[in-house]
Amino acid sequence: MSRLDAIVVGAGVSGLTTAHELLAAGLRVELWAKDRPPHTTADVAAAFWYPFLVNPSARVDAWATTAYARFRKLAHMPGNGVVMREVFELRPDHDDHGAATPAWVAQLDGLRPMTASELGDSHRRGRRFFAPVIETPRYMPWLVERIERCGAKIVSRSIDSFEPAFERAPIVVNATGLGARQLTGDLALISLEGVLVKIEPPPGWPDDAPVVVDERRASTVAYVVPRSGDVVLGGTARPVPPPPTTRPSDPSRASADDVEAIVSRCTGLVPDIGRATRREVCVGYRPYRAEIRLELERHDKGWLVHNYGHGGAGVTLSWGCAAQAVHELAQTGYPGLDAVPRTAS
Ligand SMILES: Cc1cc2nc3c(=O)[nH]c(=O)nc-3n(C[C@H](O)[C@H](O)[C@H](O)COP(=O)(O)OP(=O)(O)OC[C@H]3O[C@@H](n4cnc5c(N)ncnc54)[C@H](O)[C@@H]3O)c2cc1C
Repeated sequence: MSRLDAIVVGAGVSGLTTAHELLAAGLRVELWAKDRPPHTTADVAAAFWYPFLVNPSARVDAWATTAYARFRKLAHMPGNGVVMREVFELRPDHDDHGAATPAWVAQLDGLRPMTASELGDSHRRGRRFFAPVIETPRYMPWLVERIERCGAKIVSRSIDSFEPAFERAPIVVNATGLGARQLTGDLALISLEGVLVKIEPPPGWPDDAPVVVDERRASTVAYVVPRSGDVVLGGTARPVPPPPTTRPSDPSRASADDVEAIVSRCTGLVPDIGRATRREVCVGYRPYRAEIRLELERHDKGWLVHNYGHGGAGVTLSWGCAAQAVHELAQTGYPGLDAVPRTAS
């Protein structure tokens, strides 16, 4: 059995992206995962780039900015499902007591306040900008293919301790999403259920229809995300007991009230939605923590790199968190890792 540099546990967007960056830095990597795409949390997400339900803000700013630049580059390349779309973001009517604007806002392409005519009668404040939409049904298979082409295997394997992984490699990445609760005993990690409704594009819709996000009710952000073959409507974010698996759930778990409330709020934002045919309802579980856990832990056989707890922004932050994980490993002097990670596109 050939010696590996790293085992990445988890093949969701966090594990796959971290594996990609370790491979780009020249390491020999294998992934172990209970489930792989299309059965991971990101597979239900739309997903659009938006730092939502995630902390801590200073680190999130940096990771989101890195990932924005990376996705923007990917959007210029064919076949990966990443598209830059305009976003209309409706803000709460009043400033949040002078809360500072997050730093990630400043770097957005095409950023400008919405005009009174764009806002209409029911909204008072909003901004427009361009952001990546990462169409996960195309993006996740592309990411898997990239990793496999770099020589990494994705092994179907569930673990209940990291010891077997340290038997194979001196670096182990814990990218197990909600699975980390049981693996590390981290009770700060909770599960936020999210319901989405996928619909056909309304007849006559333009290919470049914008994303619309209504941030006015912090507890239930509503959003409309057009994609190449459908439109994703969201959403809910409700704390629930941790599910026995990180797999997206059976859609029958979604309550009819939630589904109707989502469609009705989204129709209020974009009236055309009322004429569209419904396709499916999806339910997934965001791995939420008051702070993302991205840190190195010393192990007697090497380094355990935690990268989990990305809440509602695991896709948004994926390239930033992966680059940070590689950077921190480089600080340990691990042979072959440059101090500044290479970021192959
Ligand atoms: C409805 C909904 C909408 C969302 N929309 C967006 C969006 O628009 N933009 C955005 O950025 N984010 C969005 N998110 C959040 C995003 O999907 C998550 O933050 C992200 O997918 C988490 O990825 P992860 O790789 O950390 O975890 P997961 O995808 O849960 O992957 C965990 C991996 O670890 C494996 N695993 C777990 N335990 C074990 C074990 N013991 N042994 C071996 N393997 C194990 C699993 O099988 C899986 O491969 C949304 C989430 C939901 C639910």
